[in-house]
Amino acid sequence: MLDLIIRGGQVVTPMGVGEWDVAVQGERIAAVAAPGALGDEAGRIVDATGMVVVPGGIEPHAHISAPIMGHGDLKTAPPEQVSRAALYGGTTTLLDFAIQYPGIDIPQAIAERTGVWQGNSYADYSHHLMLLGQIPQEIIGSLHEAVEDGFATFKIFTTNIRPPATTGEPRMVGTGHLHDLMEEIQRLSAMLLVHAEDDDMVQHMYQKLTREERTEWHNMPLVHSAESEDVSFRRVLRVAEWTGAPVYFVHVSALHGVQNIAEARANGRPVYGETLHNYCCFNQDNYKEENGMKYHTYPSLKSEADRQSLWDGIINGGLQTMATDEYCTSWETKIAGRTISDVTGGHNGAEARMGITYSEGVSKQGMTLQRFVDVTSANAAKIMGLYPRKGVLAPGSDADICLIDPSIKRKLTKDDFHITDYSIWEGRDIEGWPVTTILRGKVVVENGSFTASPGGGQFLRRKVDPAVADRPVV
Ligand SMILES: [Zn+2]
Repeated sequence: MLDLIIRGGQVVTPMGVGEWDVAVQGERIAAVAAPGALGDEAGRIVDATGMVVVPGGIEPHAHISAPIMGHGDLKTAPPEQVSRAALYGGTTTLLDFAIQYPGIDIPQAIAERTGVWQGNSYADYSHHLMLLGQIPQEIIGSLHEAVEDGFATFKIFTTNIRPPATTGEPRMVGTGHLHDLMEEIQRLSAMLLVHAEDDDMVQHMYQKLTREERTEWHNMPLVHSAESEDVSFRRVLRVAEWTGAPVYFVHVSALHGVQNIAEARANGRPVYGETLHNYCCFNQDNYKEENGMKYHTYPSLKSEADRQSLWDGIINGGLQTMATDEYCTSWETKIAGRTISDVTGGHNGAEARMGITYSEGVSKQGMTLQRFVDVTSANAAKIMGLYPRKGVLAPGSDADICLIDPSIKRKLTKDDFHITDYSIWEGRDIEGWPVTTILRGKVVVENGSFTASPGGGQFLRRKVDPAVADRPVV
């Protein structure tokens, strides 16, 4: 007998969208079948009439229990809080970062993350490895061991992000180190995530605006500018072409970034782009509001034309994933920094991501349901090495399933979210929102009630398909 049948919903699969039934046996999907074909024999039948049935979301970019820059020992929300909120929002898999600080090796960085997550997550999870500054040759020489252990993705920054006094650990990876790292990434068929901004231009603008006494936070787009993103993307892409390395640009924020990615992909390069839910829904004018730093995520919100180009990329294929760069703090912490040197990035993103993308993309702009699944789940699974275990409703895949009710129409309030004491979405009109979440066959959110087990989330080993690292197949 089947454990679970999800009946009567509009089911989104790579083969198409239809009113089908989904069968679950144990933790996996057993079948997607014609209505009624599965019979009535099941441990549980979920009536999904009127619902859109999609794979559980995958948040590819979150900072969980991470040190908050400029706030001493304070950390962003921990796995038990973020994973609970994520499941409420239809996201079943979270990817955060194991940071290889100077003086520790990669196994130590992984052990630190394992200590934070193991037994503490309601959702499934994995970690990108973050490499900082002047990456030692021994670290590059040890990457193959991490890849063999299922850590398939590495993140670097081409900027220190903030001025030296407030940046904390130097982050910027210079072009020479980037070259060596890319050679190794290419050899290993791994994936390189890049926060790309030109550090010379960023630091120059911090100094210039400080001299001119223009340090209010709403000047962030002048520091973390579209031009700086463009210049750095081009440099990164040139080194990627010389070395053959695949690149995933995190938080693309402007039109030129989208264009650079499109050009590289048209040339057959394995280049992928992510943007953020807040970059799609707000622009630099929002910084001018009272406490308008609340909208901020690094690099920065840009112009209205940039915002529209990001939606165009998400809807029409120029960008591959919708992420949030989750960095969940209290309101007090979020608005404490009020200058270009000390504002705090990020939000309670993972919970909002699926609903905002559905409401703003599918309901308001006519994005197809298959494209919705691509940008919220399937593409992240493919690029980060989780496919087809995650990211698809197909026999044999994990039964991670989200039911969205497209008939929900209301204004969002803080009570729609289950983490922290503020949201940037207050008062936004939504059309459609996640209502039921299933993690590996178990209904964990239903009618607002939460039944996931503490520590029920599993660590996920990952391996990037060599095709994804070789050419732009996603
Ligand atoms: Zn980030």
